[in-house]
Amino acid sequence: MEKMNIYFSAILLVFLATCTAKEKPDSNNGPIKYSYELNLNDFENDQLKVNLQVQAMDQDSATFCFPKIVPGIYGTMDFGQYISSFTAMDADKETLEVKKVGTNCWKIYDAKRIAKIEYHVDDVWEVFDFNMKEGFYRSAASTFQEKTFVINTNCLFGYFRGHDNDSIQIVIHKPNELYAATSLNKSNSIPDQDEFLMKDYHQLVDNPILYSVPDTITIKLPKIDVQVACYSTSGQSISGEIARFIEPLLVNQTNYLGGSLPVDKYTFLIYHNLNPDPSPYLADGLEHSHSTLILMYMPLKLDAIKKNVYGIASHEFFHTLLPLALHSQEIAHYDFNQPKFSRHLWLYEGTTEYFTIHMPVKSGIQDLNSFLHVLEGIIKEMRRYDNELPMTELSLHPIEMQDQFYNVYLRGTMINLCLDIYLRDLSHGDYGVQDLVADLIEKYGKDKPFDDTELFEEIVKTTGFPEVRDFISAYIEGSKELPLKEMLEKAGLRLEDGKISQVEDITPEQLNLRKSWINQ
Ligand SMILES: [Zn+2]
Repeated sequence: MEKMNIYFSAILLVFLATCTAKEKPDSNNGPIKYSYELNLNDFENDQLKVNLQVQAMDQDSATFCFPKIVPGIYGTMDFGQYISSFTAMDADKETLEVKKVGTNCWKIYDAKRIAKIEYHVDDVWEVFDFNMKEGFYRSAASTFQEKTFVINTNCLFGYFRGHDNDSIQIVIHKPNELYAATSLNKSNSIPDQDEFLMKDYHQLVDNPILYSVPDTITIKLPKIDVQVACYSTSGQSISGEIARFIEPLLVNQTNYLGGSLPVDKYTFLIYHNLNPDPSPYLADGLEHSHSTLILMYMPLKLDAIKKNVYGIASHEFFHTLLPLALHSQEIAHYDFNQPKFSRHLWLYEGTTEYFTIHMPVKSGIQDLNSFLHVLEGIIKEMRRYDNELPMTELSLHPIEMQDQFYNVYLRGTMINLCLDIYLRDLSHGDYGVQDLVADLIEKYGKDKPFDDTELFEEIVKTTGFPEVRDFISAYIEGSKELPLKEMLEKAGLRLEDGKISQVEDITPEQLNLRKSWINQ
């Protein structure tokens, strides 16, 4: 779900299994109350200090954790490694016995007495530039600077195991001139303080916050308010130009989705680090239900910045559908320390990227040749990966298969293209992947996760075409080469030596199919 819009050679990362000592599990009783306090004025040695008041803990022992990994990324980040001087206290400020369990968790004994926890947090990255390692997701992490704080909440705030569904209050003290851009609702806001209320830890992690001197514009569309909040290390205001540039994109995406959107509020958080060299550019985005955080390293060339934001925004905004409005139990009940992965990245990433490339041509803002050129590029890049590795396998084991992971954006997209044409062919142009996704969202939606092992049968049932089962077995669960040539031929297009051209004597059937597919 994170998408880097540059290609870099993949390095196989070896993840060492973490050794966890055998511990008696904590008993889990009623809900607790979390009240966090953070002071951005109190920023020393590149660290922030966090206080947590805990009420109603009714367990003999309790385990407090930071995520090993968060939704949307597929590599281990171990956010617990940035925490120091962890202390748990009772109401009389007496220290409780604490034992570190693995990299991310602390076990607290005599936990019924817990009243307060304190710790320091180091930021994860200092500068967003090319100094990076594969599989390290800075868009899921934080940076603290004197007047700018990119806050991924999973870096700063933890959860008690078994209490990730309890409500959380956070008070953040801040310099008056800093503004919090986020899709979280501020339950109270005065010049030197913001207060947020979250229904649970999942909602907290789903909402990054950018604290900076405000450079913010809100685009008001009929059914959605979209805030564009920026910070550029150049000191220049960039939000106005970006907002004007992406407004038509959002209008087109809304129309493509039939005029209705799964959210009514959305925020783009954009952090731009000025690259003094003219090129190349680097950008990275991570999607959430109601926002996307975009990090960029490039010169202050507004054209390039706008184009990069546009590219990331179109992909990330489509994620409001997949997986955010349609997902399996594994995502709905995400375990931040022992996540189980879903087999459906072909859908979450593949369909999202397919919609991103399909929308412009179908809406008529891109011509046929440019669209074919995009397809040629994807096909060429896809050939660099192991296409006999079934998408479902890659999806279930992303951490172990980092070197193949990028193929979810390539083969995943082309699976959807083939399925779209195949469905159009079976339905005489009436039904495609857009309809399928709309039908599945209608059936499930954001609050009703599907069973990971049952989705394929549900797709076959929803489309009404039993042949779709064979397509899934061969190309999504299986290793068969994608039928790109055959499918494109159905739309009057010829794929030869990596190039796609229009057939000379297009038949009325081919033309009809192409019209229903891409309106061209
Ligand atoms: Zn994505």
